Amino acid sequence: MMKKILLLSIVSAGLIAGCQTTQHAPAPIDYSTIKLAKGNIVKEGETYVPAWVINKDQIKQVLAFEHHCADNLVLRYQKMSASDIEESCKLLKDTEERFHQLFNRKGKPLLHDNNDVLRANIYAGRDDYVKYVTDHFDVPSNNGGMYLEGLPHMENNSAEYVAYLRNGKVWNLNHEFVHYLDGRFNTYGDYCSPPHDNHYGPEYCPTPAPEPPYLIWWGEGLGEYVAHMNDNKRALQLAGDKTYQLSELFYNNSANWDTNRIYRWGYLAVRYMMENQRDKVEEMLSHVRRGDYSRYQKIVKDWGTSMDSDFHAWLDTVAIAKDKK
Ligand SMILES: [Zn+2]
Repeated sequence: MMKKILLLSIVSAGLIAGCQTTQHAPAPIDYSTIKLAKGNIVKEGETYVPAWVINKDQIKQVLAFEHHCADNLVLRYQKMSASDIEESCKLLKDTEERFHQLFNRKGKPLLHDNNDVLRANIYAGRDDYVKYVTDHFDVPSNNGGMYLEGLPHMENNSAEYVAYLRNGKVWNLNHEFVHYLDGRFNTYGDYCSPPHDNHYGPEYCPTPAPEPPYLIWWGEGLGEYVAHMNDNKRALQLAGDKTYQLSELFYNNSANWDTNRIYRWGYLAVRYMMENQRDKVEEMLSHVRRGDYSRYQKIVKDWGTSMDSDFHAWLDTVAIAKDKK
């Protein structure tokens, strides 16, 4: 792999020397000679180059097509029908509008955020995703798509979403797109900036983890909330069970991860807070938007169990009956 790149750069150097006047493409960079940053911290003497930049030629061979839904929204894909493309663009634009209606941050990205554009990288199906995504983007393939925020404070950064088509739709497109919007308008810094306990790729956040509470309840819950708003049958069918106190959900993390707790109960927690405790949400966000995560943690600790009984009372008002088996 590395040898091939080196060879290419020698060949193009030869071309440049022999042909001074012609316009030419820049010579490929030999990344084997560069000390690359590992994780989201770029140390002295290291360079940050994400996998999708290093592997851009390989990616282009598979994801050969591009469509711009808007100046800030690009679909890069392997194979999509015209109607898939149209529907996906509409979904993204509708979600973006909804997000801005909720938070009123349009045109006001966070300080030091250069993620003006989101590119969704869409494989033709689950098999192609599993086959390519790890080589292309250095991410695990055991998931339904991932948002890769990169290092938003760096000017050469790009925000990427990796996904695949399932039944003619881009799987999880909406939820992941909300992560992009949350990262650009609500949550300061890169993925490793807020406190959390996830040390996996592609971010490889440094260990050990800061103390909880983390921001997972908010990030994942908001993804589901803005994606589905009031139409979230699977979450609302769980509501009547009152499985968790709100104060427990604030402590969602990678260690206690399960689909219902993180996504459905996360949704219920965020929806309750947005509908009934908006002042508290705004106070929390005022610190999160500045990257003052220790203040965020203090606020959540101060909330303690104060909203637990109101949360359970509210669950009764939104709960719907379970499907009969
Ligand atoms: Zn998510």
